[in-house]
Amino acid sequence: MKKTKVIIAGGGFAGLSAAMYLDKTLARRAEAEVTLISRENFILFTPMLHEVAAGDLYPGDIVNPIRRILRDVKFVQAELQAIDLSARRVRCVGGVAQLALELDFDHLLLTLGSETNFFDLPGVSDWAVTMKSLSDAALLRNRVLALLEEAALQSDPAARRPLLTFVTAGGGFAGAETTGAINDFLRETVRYYPNLNENSFGSLSFIQVTTCRNSAKNSGPTPKASYASERLT
Ligand SMILES: Cc1cc2nc3c(=O)[nH]c(=O)nc-3n(C[C@H](O)[C@H](O)[C@H](O)COP(=O)(O)OP(=O)(O)OC[C@H]3O[C@@H](n4cnc5c(N)ncnc54)[C@H](O)[C@@H]3O)c2cc1C
Repeated sequence: MKKTKVIIAGGGFAGLSAAMYLDKTLARRAEAEVTLISRENFILFTPMLHEVAAGDLYPGDIVNPIRRILRDVKFVQAELQAIDLSARRVRCVGGVAQLALELDFDHLLLTLGSETNFFDLPGVSDWAVTMKSLSDAALLRNRVLALLEEAALQSDPAARRPLLTFVTAGGGFAGAETTGAINDFLRETVRYYPNLNENSFGSLSFIQVTTCRNSAKNSGPTPKASYASERLT
């Protein structure tokens, strides 16, 4: 019997939800084959990513293995590289050896998420740490700690100032949460640095840059914005 093949590309919130639905319905039928392809073999709970960056949670606390969630849907950990719509085939690479894989489909569901948008702001893509993946959160935490260490080596307040100045580019939900988490992390951690203290944080400032042109135009000084600016500066 020829099976109807469904491929779901991307195992984030959208792809995994679809896979879980098809796991209970289509995937258990003999005439169907459903495959989820994703770069990581876990689902990342992004709403808590900032807590990993701040060291409040361990990375393992906000991920769940996809293979443990699915029963009849097949899972392939691989990077999707190309889609041939006329041949109804996807090309991927997977594994440490970067094995090339080709999989046929009758139906393809694309749920690959999005990429960070830097809105062409000069220098941001060169200098910023992005906040999208688990490794981004770990990198941000390590970067903040490295800057604290470097600031501790500096006796000159003017040289310390740029090391302890943090800018969040992006004033949405994730930006505000990450800023708050890093703010708390810094203020809690500074006590382990004898030559730095809350007072030396006169030079620690957080600036929320709203990158979306429309919201920048429309956003006035709301009570919440004023409160955040007061607390974080
Ligand atoms: C820090 C942060 C905090 C957030 N907080 C909230 C919140 O509190 N509430 C809320 O509603 N939303 C929040 N979001 C937004 C939410 O995470 C996204 O809206 C949601 O993840 C989008 O789901 P998706 O399935 O479209 O994409 P994603 O969840 O990004 O999933 C895409 C998947 O596709 C995989 N993938 C991408 N390209 C390839 C490829 N070439 N080959 C193989 N796999 C690939 C990715 O690895 C990923 O697993 C937050 C986002 C971030 C970054």
